Amino acid sequence: MSIRKTFPNYKLKSGWNALLPTREASPALKKNISVDVLIIGAGWTGISAAKHWHSLSPEAGIALIDASEIGEGNPGRNSGFLLEIALAEDANPDQIEKMNLGNRLTASTMAEILAEIDASGHEVDITKAGTYRAAASDVGLKSLQNYRAFLEAAGLEHESLDATALKLRIGSDFYQEGLYSPDCYLAQPAAAIRALASLLPESVQLFENTAALKLTQQSSRWQVQTPNAVINARKLVLANNAFSKELGIGRSRLVAMHTYAGLTPVLEKSVLDDLGSDENWGLLPTHRLGSTLRRTIDGRLMVRSMHSYEKQAPREKIIGGLQHRLQRRFPQLPNFELEHCWGGAVGFTFNGGAVWGEFKPGLYVSAGCNGGGTVKGTLLGKLLVEVAHGMKVPDVPKLFGQASWMPPEPFRKIGYKLAASVESHQGRHEL
Ligand SMILES: Cc1cc2nc3c(=O)[nH]c(=O)nc-3n(C[C@H](O)[C@H](O)[C@H](O)COP(=O)(O)OP(=O)(O)OC[C@H]3O[C@@H](n4cnc5c(N)ncnc54)[C@H](O)[C@@H]3O)c2cc1C
Repeated sequence: MSIRKTFPNYKLKSGWNALLPTREASPALKKNISVDVLIIGAGWTGISAAKHWHSLSPEAGIALIDASEIGEGNPGRNSGFLLEIALAEDANPDQIEKMNLGNRLTASTMAEILAEIDASGHEVDITKAGTYRAAASDVGLKSLQNYRAFLEAAGLEHESLDATALKLRIGSDFYQEGLYSPDCYLAQPAAAIRALASLLPESVQLFENTAALKLTQQSSRWQVQTPNAVINARKLVLANNAFSKELGIGRSRLVAMHTYAGLTPVLEKSVLDDLGSDENWGLLPTHRLGSTLRRTIDGRLMVRSMHSYEKQAPREKIIGGLQHRLQRRFPQLPNFELEHCWGGAVGFTFNGGAVWGEFKPGLYVSAGCNGGGTVKGTLLGKLLVEVAHGMKVPDVPKLFGQASWMPPEPFRKIGYKLAASVESHQGRHEL
């Protein structure tokens, strides 16, 4: 019998976390406890939920558990784009009123994240550097056009760049056209999530290296089995993204889609001089199977690309694929090896909508932010807690979508493979 993993267990260390000083993790849970609220997953969503629950109910006993360690787990593995406005995939110029409300909520959440990082006193590399989006083929140009229409309809600042202007900024002539939008922060994600976790109130007990293995409901309480102990809770929040399906929620709506990133070593000054005028920039793809790029302030390039369905790809395959993508964009780079490469799981939903809300009495879930859950996850974690407190909240399914149904296995995987091969062929120049 195959045993399903209820939590991610990454084989490759997060490159961002490896660049930071060692951090001592909070102890794992060793004995049974009983709490008012248990939050599973100490990521962007879970940390935000824990803090907000405490601010609304300061007397509540809250436990927050994570299968990994802060900075090393999924929340510290992303590309560090903290968008203040909708992602291109979510942008719809025909529904501008709804988009504007979503943008306002996202921007105010971003302001809260910044204030918290500031208050933490941690040194976090985070800058409002904006983001480029760039197209290398007709498929990408079409998506760029849609995003430009959204930015125009929403009255958001942006700048169009032809291939030459883009090359002057980022040193690559891979793209035909680009669009720059200032409404995005670029962060060292592992440092950012460490800073946010450091401000958890004292009454929130954080247990790292403590995976939830199984949930059971016993009359009006929830029992969660972890490797060494059981947690008994009145209310339960699942903030563990794709892995909430392994605990029985959102099985027909969520997929753990693994995607990969790599960081070069710090590049020589002569190489950096050939990489355009911008010293700290980020570029998002215009095709969903395309590649994200960054140049970091300490002189590295980062590339994020490639996907695998429900399992981690082998290191050699990842490193080869990522280096190839970087070399295509920057043929002037000398021969190099990526210094770090790693993967992470995105909570992928077919239509990009979230798995969000109260699923059973006392059981709340926020999962499925796809590729853009740093700021959105923080917002949805907070709103979920307001739902749990019976407060009136904006209509999340209307604003951010509701995850659609996917067929069960093996049909789901077959469907994914077919769609991915068609899409990667159509978008082959963007990969
Ligand atoms: C390579 C990569 C690049 C990305 N780039 C960006 C980007 O630039 N910008 C952006 O906004 N988003 C990006 N994303 C997506 C982003 O990382 C997620 O949307 C975001 O982290 C979601 O936050 P979360 O807190 O909801 O979930 P997660 O960050 O997935 O956190 C869930 C937490 O739950 C824990 N967990 C899981 N299962 C269990 C269990 N059974 N028991 C206990 N703990 C458990 C995990 O260890 C994890 O810490 C990227 C993702 C990847 C993989």
